[in-house]
Amino acid sequence: MQIQKDTVVTLHYKLSDAKGKLLEQSTKDQPMVYLHGGYENTLPKIEEALDGQAVGFKVTLNLEPQDAFGLRDESLARAIPKSEFPPGVKVGGQLQGRTDDGVEHVFTVMKVKGDKVLLDGNHPLAGTAVRFDLTVADVRAASDEEIAHKHVHGAHGHHH
Ligand SMILES: [Zn+2]
Repeated sequence: MQIQKDTVVTLHYKLSDAKGKLLEQSTKDQPMVYLHGGYENTLPKIEEALDGQAVGFKVTLNLEPQDAFGLRDESLARAIPKSEFPPGVKVGGQLQGRTDDGVEHVFTVMKVKGDKVLLDGNHPLAGTAVRFDLTVADVRAASDEEIAHKHVHGAHGHHH
């Protein structure tokens, strides 16, 4: 079966930075599974590269930040006084806040510097050029329910 709109694609992947340093990879038990066809389950560049391909297809994609995890938005990097900081949140932890536009957003606690806590709401890989090595492990037709929900159900998908 070919990858086309409304197919469920199982991928093994390796994600590296532009220098080839491995950042993340799928495991045998935890592949990446997504619903193909513009449902924003994965990056558009990945869908573009896989469209029309089948099981066994391998591809390496070198992506600029804007095609991967986005550019950094410096307005999402901020310092708050330690006194306003909720107890129990540690460096590396996350907390819910609001952007300058008042939209709810998750911030990562970067570090504590004197009486300030530095937060960053950017994706950890924002501003980074990355490389994906992808192998297609399975392709199947999506169910009507998956198409209606715009995501994959089952072993590696949503459970509900
Ligand atoms: Zn669902």
